[in-house]
Amino acid sequence: MMNRIWLTLIMFSFLAGPVFADEIPKDRLDRFAAQVIDQGGRAIGYPANQDTGLKEFYQWYLGSGLYGVVMNNAGNPRKQSSYVMQTHQFENEVIDFFAPLYGFDPQDTWGIVTFSGTDGNNHGIYFGVKYLLAKTKMRPVIYVSADAHYSIKKLADLQNLEMKLVPTDRLGRMIIPEFEKALDPRKPALVVVAMGTTFKGAIDDQAAIDAVIKKINPPAVYRHLDAALFGGYLPFSVHKDIVNRKQVRFDSIAVSGHKFFGLDEPMGIFITTREVLNNQNPFNVAYLNDAVPTITCSRSALGALKFWWKVKKTGRAGYERQAAEILARTGYLKAALDKIGYPAWMNQYSNTVFFKRPGHGIMEKWGLAPEEDARLGGKLAHCIILQHATKKTIDLFIADLKSDMTRK
Ligand SMILES: *Cc1c(COP(=O)(O)O)cnc(C)c1O
Repeated sequence: MMNRIWLTLIMFSFLAGPVFADEIPKDRLDRFAAQVIDQGGRAIGYPANQDTGLKEFYQWYLGSGLYGVVMNNAGNPRKQSSYVMQTHQFENEVIDFFAPLYGFDPQDTWGIVTFSGTDGNNHGIYFGVKYLLAKTKMRPVIYVSADAHYSIKKLADLQNLEMKLVPTDRLGRMIIPEFEKALDPRKPALVVVAMGTTFKGAIDDQAAIDAVIKKINPPAVYRHLDAALFGGYLPFSVHKDIVNRKQVRFDSIAVSGHKFFGLDEPMGIFITTREVLNNQNPFNVAYLNDAVPTITCSRSALGALKFWWKVKKTGRAGYERQAAEILARTGYLKAALDKIGYPAWMNQYSNTVFFKRPGHGIMEKWGLAPEEDARLGGKLAHCIILQHATKKTIDLFIADLKSDMTRK
């Protein structure tokens, strides 16, 4: 009896209209948006290209009516899925666009559009462990530089791996004799190569790492490239060989979509070989019509579609132009810092300049990230030059630094 009354009451409240719904406070949202957009022009402290240029995409999207349905890219994009409301065809074209740029052969490529660089690293480490297990029946030791992104350390912990953190030099590069000391000849090795560390933009010396591997000769080796930021522009630059697996050996690569490529939300790509994929021994999931190699089940269909749009719109020539521009402007920033005698450093092939940390006001105004390194005099900050950071922006930043110097 009581239940019936409750049920009637609940039904009544639904029929009576949206009792719990509230007016959307548009003013508040508009103020919030204006504030975020204003900060975008000065955002040179974090690796996000603020020139997204996605207006046309959103206009098309609204007109298409797709906002009214749920799409989901669950499953293997290279296999016919029984779930039809997905964008696998576009996802595959994104991977097909990038794979040859990193030296993967079209017939020997497998990859996905990920949720982020971290998601790509997670797949790289997971695939690496499974691959090495299949080859040697042993779990590997993971080797990564002390300057590598924290996500690698967290993911190694998550996957319960024995990890060896290899010390780095003052520019953030793995010290090769230390790697040699750490490398265990009895266990398979999963090496995560830093292709541009987050703070200093350091690139590990892949040829030297290879020479050590050859000398120590562990039972099997898997190399994953964490190229979250640098993997965006390097294949479009004159330095493209250092991310080309025909020139340097690696088994998988992860790149972020929201750093260089210009997507407006966290996204990325993960690419590996068929040989790696075929050594995963995944579980069969009948309702998705296949063995699913991905760690995540549901994946963003809208993200993959947006990525496809971005790649179509920009094209190889567009990204090549952007890569040349950001590298030239990074050089311009470094030269400007040198000219005013401000202590600053940068690595080869890098779009990241790090320097003595300025005053709090500058850190806040320009949205800079802090770091410390006693070898470089203590407190540091860095700038990451991406498409939206024009010469004018850099000049304004330098002018601020100059007045900060005279104030002290
Ligand atoms: C940004 C970054 C990551 C993390 O990528 P997300 O896309 O933010 O998850 C990993 N490694 C490096 C070197 C990075 O710069």
